[in-house]
Formats: sequence, structure tokens, C-alpha cells
Amino acid sequence: MHLQKSTGISEKKPDASAGAICSVCGQGELMGFQTLGDKEYLRCPRCSATIMARKSWLGPDEERAVYELHDNDPGDTGYRSFLEKLALPMLERIQPGASGLDFGCGPGPALAEMMREAGMEVALFDPFFHPAESALSREYDFITCTEVVEHLHHPAKVFRQLDGLLKPGGWLGVMTCFQTCDDRFDKWHYRRDPTHVVFYREATLKVVAQRMGWTMTVPCKDVAMFYKPL
Ligand SMILES: [Zn+2]
Repeated sequence: MHLQKSTGISEKKPDASAGAICSVCGQGELMGFQTLGDKEYLRCPRCSATIMARKSWLGPDEERAVYELHDNDPGDTGYRSFLEKLALPMLERIQPGASGLDFGCGPGPALAEMMREAGMEVALFDPFFHPAESALSREYDFITCTEVVEHLHHPAKVFRQLDGLLKPGGWLGVMTCFQTCDDRFDKWHYRRDPTHVVFYREATLKVVAQRMGWTMTVPCKDVAMFYKPL
């Protein structure tokens, strides 16, 4: 027997186009926000995410070419201190020997190396540089996700996937530049990377946490720590 679908509820699917359901929270209906050069951006009235319209996305080859320019050298001290913003609050919350996943680690897995130095086990996954799907078929005590969520074409789907990869009582650490002022959106360096397709306010990530049943704390600017309850 089928459950009767209630009528009057939007049948719209998550997508990155005006009028579609928000691909971050799955609740708001996206509205036009700004058009800057050849890029069109949308805004969700529910979670305040700013989302690049699908028609403005780069193709996979162009996207990869930009990623290959990113400098993720584990030996670079500036980059390591940048990653400590996430590594240190994570290390305060987990025990040595904990198993983790660096989701979207990029070409040079600097954060994973830092966590291993602190006694953690870390698996890697990156759709472009470490595409080992086997890393996505088990559960972890912690997941790190640095400079990743702004690239996601289907954020809600990925947050659900991360929830499935996290043990109850586990931690997910996300680092992304939080959006604050709309006036400076055009000139914001983060906006100007053409592979950045979603911009989150702190409030946006709170909505994500609520939807996923996680609790969220923000230990420092641009870092959110999500706890999956036991
Ligand atoms: Zn939304």
C-alpha cells in the first residue's frame, strides 16, 4: 500500500535555478540575487545560502584546471597554520587513534598529514585527486572538510552522505569562508573563484545542522564543528 502524497506541497526538486528548491536546505525556493559579469547568483530565503545558478557553472574540465592551480603543499607553513583553524578544534574533541576521513582532500593532503602526526588514522577522498570510493563505504569518528563545501553542486546530498559516513558521537569539521555582507559580494575574493558555487552564512550552516539533527559550534571564524548525537 502506498502512502498518499499530500497535495499542495511543492513537487519541485533541489536545483540551482530560480524557482527551484534550495540545494542546501531543501526548503526555500531560490530567488534571483545578483548577476555579476557572466555569473548569476541566487538566494535562498529560508537558509540565506547564496548559490551560483547552474547555467553559470564551469564544465568538469575547466573546474579541474582551476583545482590544479591550487597550492596545497603540506610543507608550506602558511597553509598549515591556515588548516590549524580546523585541526586544533577537531583535535580537542577526538582521542588519539580515532579514525577520520579527509573529504575533498585535494591534491596535497596537508590536513590529513597534520592529523596523522597527532596520532589519528585518516583516509582520503577527493573526486578529482583521490577518487577511491572504498573510503566512502565505512564509518568514521571524525570527518574534515576544508575548503570543499563551497564547491558542491548538490550540497544537501553531500551533507546527507557525510552524515552516513559519521559514527554517532562523531564530529564533522567544515571550513569555508562564511558570507557576511551582501554589499561586498561582487568584490569578495571568495566569490571570484569560478569554482565556488555556494556561499554559506553561519545561519545557513545552522539550518543544515538542524536538518541533519547535528549540533553546531563555531570555534573560530569560518569553521563549523558539527556533532552527530549518540
Ligand atoms: Zn536554503
